[in-house]
Amino acid sequence: MKFMEFALLDGKRVRASANTIRGLDYKCPYVYCKSPGLGVRIGNKKRPHFYHLSGKPECDSLSEGMTEAHFAMRDTM
Ligand SMILES: [Zn+2]
Repeated sequence: MKFMEFALLDGKRVRASANTIRGLDYKCPYVYCKSPGLGVRIGNKKRPHFYHLSGKPECDSLSEGMTEAHFAMRDTM
């Protein structure tokens, strides 16, 4: 299981961290995602990450293993 490190907030890519503010309108970076949004999970044992509010991934961004390279390509488009 790969954690989602990135989400979109107001069209900008943000990385989950201990300082990430909860409850904002985070969106899945995967363009075809059907989830209403993403939540932030910050724990002591796991590193901060986003999760789908729908409870399960409704896109295959995780299984496809979205990489930094993919995001970098999108940023330049
Ligand atoms: Zn998604």
